[in-house]
Amino acid sequence: MSDTSSAALRSGRLAGKIAIVTGGAQGQGAEIARAYAAEGAQVVIADVAEAEGAALAEEIAAKHGPGVVHFTRHDVSDAASWTALVAEVAERFGPVSVLANNAGILRFGDIERMPAEEVELLWRVNQMGVFLGMQAVARTMRKNGGGSIINASSVEGLAGMPSCTAYAATKWAIRGMTKCAAMELGPRGIRVNSVHPGMIDTPMTRVHGGDAAMEFGASKVPLRRVGTPEDIAPVYVFLASDESSYINGAEIAVDGGVTSTHAFGA
Ligand code: NAD
Repeated sequence: MSDTSSAALRSGRLAGKIAIVTGGAQGQGAEIARAYAAEGAQVVIADVAEAEGAALAEEIAAKHGPGVVHFTRHDVSDAASWTALVAEVAERFGPVSVLANNAGILRFGDIERMPAEEVELLWRVNQMGVFLGMQAVARTMRKNGGGSIINASSVEGLAGMPSCTAYAATKWAIRGMTKCAAMELGPRGIRVNSVHPGMIDTPMTRVHGGDAAMEFGASKVPLRRVGTPEDIAPVYVFLASDESSYINGAEIAVDGGVTSTHAFGA
């Protein structure tokens, strides 16, 4: 039995939307989930991090009501987990209309030393995860008049970086898959776009050097600061909303201008 009681009373730029946010337990995904709920969507936070996901769902429910949010454990690299997730969303809220395909992992490694298992793990979570997500929601969205899929790529999907070959490969793949999916799913009313964050202050980046890494990163950005999840979430809101109704197959850099330069820029 779907819970539409509190959704019917809600307003906002995403009123009536039913959204899945993968990797929604922390970092950028958590802020996307908060922003979606604040704009009137019903949100399913899908993540392998159970304690963080459940705590965030409680936080959002306390603010917007229990019928607005749900956390479920979900592994993006597992096709069966996707099937179960889409069915659970339909049962609880109704057919999914927005997918923030945000979950991802980061591993650095030199080409000469990086173990093949690490490369494969990146590929499974980042690249296969995004593919399986698009595959899992496409039929439901098509049958229900369309939807919006937002794929998390990176500035590493726009340019290169040493010791980042395996991660960048997945993010370039996401950029490419987004273009193909936009063409294939566009005629069915489904828009597919990619977001390319620069260096964003989240657990993913903090673990690689803390404040010192943030300061170093900031010095490389024309805006002279690293980004925050609050810089990213509004772009996900816009792409989920009908305000972006003619944007399909686009790649949107949210990077403080860091990809505006060639290597000799300051
Ligand atoms: P984060 O590590 O803070 O959060 C990622 C979330 O994904 C976590 O909650 C984690 O539990 C979840 N996750 C990991 N593996 C999963 C799996 N198999 N199934 C489901 N959930 C899983 O990272 P973030 O900075 O919030 O990154 C969000 C997205 O943005 C990622 O795709 C990342 O690659 C991308 N990105 C991040 C940055 C940055 O600087 N932080 C820059 C560019 C792109």
